[in-house]
Amino acid sequence: MKMRAPDYDIIVVGGGHAGCEAAAAAAKLGSRVLLVSMQIDRLAYMSCNPAMGGVAKGQIVREIDAMGGFSGIVTDEATLQFRMLNRSKGPAMWSPRAQCDMWRFSSAWRVHLENVPGLDLRQDTVTEFILEGNRVAGVKTICGAEIRSRAVVLTGGTFLNGRIHIGEHSYSGGRIGEAASFGLGEQLRERGVEVLRLKTGTPVRVDARTVDFSVLTEQAGDEMPAKFSFSDTIPVSSQMSCFLAYTNQEVHDILRTGFDKSPMFAGRIQGRGPRYCPSIEDKIDRFADKDRHQLFFEPCGRHSHEYYLNGFSSSLPEEIQLSALHKIPGFGQAKVFRPGYAIEYDYFDPTRLQATLESRLVENLYFAGQVNGTTGYEEAAGQGFMAGVNAHLKIVGKEAFVLSRSQAYIGVLIDDLVTKGVDEPYRMFTSRAEYRILLRQDNADERLTPLAYRIGVAEEKRMRRLEEKQSYEEELKSYIENHKVEPESVNGFLCEAGTSEITQKTSLHSLLQRPQIDLSQLMKMHDGFTSFVETYREKPFFSELLEEVEISLKYDSYIRKEKENAVRLSKYDNLPLRQDFDYKSILSLSYEAREKLSRLKPSTLGQASRIPGVSPSDISVLLIWLNK
Ligand SMILES: Cc1cc2nc3c(=O)[nH]c(=O)nc-3n(C[C@H](O)[C@H](O)[C@H](O)COP(=O)(O)OP(=O)(O)OC[C@H]3O[C@@H](n4cnc5c(N)ncnc54)[C@H](O)[C@@H]3O)c2cc1C
Repeated sequence: MKMRAPDYDIIVVGGGHAGCEAAAAAAKLGSRVLLVSMQIDRLAYMSCNPAMGGVAKGQIVREIDAMGGFSGIVTDEATLQFRMLNRSKGPAMWSPRAQCDMWRFSSAWRVHLENVPGLDLRQDTVTEFILEGNRVAGVKTICGAEIRSRAVVLTGGTFLNGRIHIGEHSYSGGRIGEAASFGLGEQLRERGVEVLRLKTGTPVRVDARTVDFSVLTEQAGDEMPAKFSFSDTIPVSSQMSCFLAYTNQEVHDILRTGFDKSPMFAGRIQGRGPRYCPSIEDKIDRFADKDRHQLFFEPCGRHSHEYYLNGFSSSLPEEIQLSALHKIPGFGQAKVFRPGYAIEYDYFDPTRLQATLESRLVENLYFAGQVNGTTGYEEAAGQGFMAGVNAHLKIVGKEAFVLSRSQAYIGVLIDDLVTKGVDEPYRMFTSRAEYRILLRQDNADERLTPLAYRIGVAEEKRMRRLEEKQSYEEELKSYIENHKVEPESVNGFLCEAGTSEITQKTSLHSLLQRPQIDLSQLMKMHDGFTSFVETYREKPFFSELLEEVEISLKYDSYIRKEKENAVRLSKYDNLPLRQDFDYKSILSLSYEAREKLSRLKPSTLGQASRIPGVSPSDISVLLIWLNK
């Protein structure tokens, strides 16, 4: 029988943050893509807090943007409040965060997707993969369609066998108000894919008209809000505030009365939840000595009264959530739009994936997002982008696109997933990255746009804009490095800034390296420099330009050292390991290393070294074998 030709090159299953990025990236590269999602008017829907970015996550959004993804652009279009977190710390820690209008976010994504040539949208539920041998060849849907493709990207989020819990009540669902999806996990299990369970939770959404804001502490956005995208989006012009609130002993006592009905404490939820993002009942239980917990009250949209009570996530019975809420100062009369709940869902062991996110067990099937055991929109979007790119590159026979740990947080994320696996929802932290000073939010374009442009996913305009910015950067740096100032012209300023006076002619660069001095102070000290900087003021990336120049000159010795370190280690790190390498025959490896290396089949020596249980002496043994 003659085989039907594929209807699409790539089918993406699921229109969450991972699926939207995957579909857009693959289509931008030239694949014919179908994005199938259960609700296409809820694309990239923000299931939890409508906020993008934050510590380490903001860096991921900038990285996606630098490579031509849409998460940064959509965030800028939907921002209600922008803050650069951790400004008081070193620049490796600076992290952009935007509170977003959740409805605008989703509708903006839809507009962008509808404008990507070669990308079709279909509202439907995928119930089965079409498998031919050990290769995926399309999908079957609940509407009875059989759609063939050369590759499939699975991004089903919290929907696969999803089960919602509120107190003793539980029902099947992918997210409140939406059905779960079934069939895919079962089919993959038959193929040897390990299907596991995780859980996450969300707090009540409150009607702000019923809250007394006078007793809450306002948290305004940055005075000069920045934005996420390196493209020509504009910063938010009218910001909304967030607010701080606090629980108290009375709130805790009421919540405690529901502990016996908690699905978690009663053991009805089997999956592990995110340790760093615990429910309010978890916090009270674990930190019994704390008499209050901080909460953030954050807007969900510009044209809605719905607010998110960050920190009050709960799966206790609804009446207990409400009674406790009413004891929080300011919330005595609060009404809620949606109750808090927990959800349990299937995820797939990510150590069964290659670094491209392709399954090792089913060829041309890619996995991205929450289904790989991560949590968070940003982590999902970053994986989705990489899966979409790699699915395209594979079917056109091109080399894979894999980012290293010294190139991107996305590299750290995927490397951690495929080498270490997860046993609780994985979220990104700056502490997971070895090369934090290299992986800054400000330089994501310099790190990644040229790589993405080379493979064709970052557009020409983005690359030219980067080159223009870099040439201005060089001019500014060279001015600062080559201009010296006399003691008598600057010592007054230096004293005022709380730093020691100079005794001889000194370069602006040396002054900038002092912790007390920044570019704005250099401008005050040196009129010539001010006039020089002013010639760049009209450039669309003026503030990013100054930020980048300041950081790269101020911290140049640290940056240089870390780069050297990365190059030195990458010599060993990137040594390839053959997939058919017979680890079991190397008896000088420890038993645990033999077992784990055979099972996980790392692609490089670096990946092998990061597998828990593989010791430095096992790595030395492998090095000897490689040299042989
Ligand atoms: C209750 C709850 C609480 C959360 N709490 C947090 C939190 O505290 N912190 C945090 O960072 N993140 C939290 N999240 C997670 C956050 O929502 C996800 O990390 C993020 O949305 C994952 O993106 P994704 O693209 O992987 O999946 P999702 O955004 O879940 O999108 C999955 C998409 O796939 C579609 N889909 C599923 N199955 C099929 C199918 N068979 N056929 C067609 N389409 C399908 C769905 O319709 C949906 O559009 C929470 C999520 C929920 C539901």
